[in-house]
Amino acid sequence: VRRPMVAGNWKMNGSKALVSAMTQSLSEVSLDNVDVVICPPMPLLACVEPNKFYLGAQNVSQYDAGAYTGESSTSILSELNVRYVIVGHSERRELFAEDDQVVVQKVQAVLNAGLTPIVCFGESLKVREEGNYLEFLYAQVDAVLNGIGAKIKDCVLAYEPIWAIGTGNTASPEQAQQVHAKVREHIAQEYTDIAAGLTILYGGSVNAANAAELFSQQDVDGGLVGGASLKTDDFIAICQAAN
Ligand code: 13P
Repeated sequence: VRRPMVAGNWKMNGSKALVSAMTQSLSEVSLDNVDVVICPPMPLLACVEPNKFYLGAQNVSQYDAGAYTGESSTSILSELNVRYVIVGHSERRELFAEDDQVVVQKVQAVLNAGLTPIVCFGESLKVREEGNYLEFLYAQVDAVLNGIGAKIKDCVLAYEPIWAIGTGNTASPEQAQQVHAKVREHIAQEYTDIAAGLTILYGGSVNAANAAELFSQQDVDGGLVGGASLKTDDFIAICQAAN
C-alpha cells in the first residue's frame, strides 16, 4: 500500500506571511493519511517550523561545498529540517539548462544526504502530439535509473506534463493514470518489488476541483501542486482529497 503525498511547490512565490498562514491552517486540520510537503523558496525555508507537514526544497546544488556562488548544499538544507528536494523540475531543465546528467548528480547528492528527492519528468506538448511520449518519458526515467539503480526505492517520482503546468489544462485522470501505470511497469521490468511501492505524484494544474478524481486513479499516489498550493483553502482541500 502506498501512502499518499501532496507536495506544494511555491516556485518563486509566497512570503513569510504565507509561511505563517499555511502553517497555521495545516495545524487546524487532521490529515493523518497523507504526507504533506511544503516547498517554499530557499530563503523562506529558514523561517518554517514544520508541524504536521514536511519541508521540501525546490532545488539543491549537486556539489557538497565550495566556491559555488548562489547555490545551497544538501547539508545546509538538512540543517533547516528539509526532508524532500524537488529535482529535475521542467522549469529547472528549461530555464536553467539542467540536463539528465545534472539531474542524476542532484538526485545522488540528495540521496547521499539521507533526504528524499522528488524526481520530476514530463513531456512537452510537441512530444505529446508527435505521439511517442512514453518513449521520451522512459528515457528521462532511465537516465535516473542508470545513475542510481535500486536506490530508486528511496525516491518519489512526479509526472509533470509540461503542457499541463500553469496552463489550467490538467491531464485527464485517464491520461495521468496511463503514464503512471506505464512508467511503473517500465521500472518493474528491472525492479519489480520496488516499482510496486514507488510513490508517483501527478503535477500540472491540480486544483481543489480536480484533485479527488486524479488521486482516485490506481497509480496516481498524490500531487505536486504549483499555483493552488499558494492558497491555504485550496491547498488544504487538495490534501484532504488525498487523505
Ligand atoms: P501548477 O500546479 O501551477 O500547474 O504547477 C505544477 C508544477 O509545476 C508543480 O511543480
